[in-house]
Amino acid sequence: MKIIVDYHRCEGHGLCTEQAPTVFSLDDEAELTYRFDGAEVPDEQVAVARAAINSCPVAALRELS
Ligand code: SF4
Repeated sequence: MKIIVDYHRCEGHGLCTEQAPTVFSLDDEAELTYRFDGAEVPDEQVAVARAAINSCPVAALRELS
């Protein structure tokens, strides 16, 4: 699976980083980094990545089908 991140919508709440710290991280200024930008999320991290998508309060994360 792939994830599209709307960086303009992201408000740096960090719920996704709590759900999937190997997929998403925030820097000191609450700027989001998505580790697999433009690539497939590895199979073993899909479950936590989906949990992260569902946790985002501003719907900044979307799964590409
Ligand atoms: S949960 Fe949503 S708003 Fe918060 S850091 Fe992640 S993508 Fe951004």
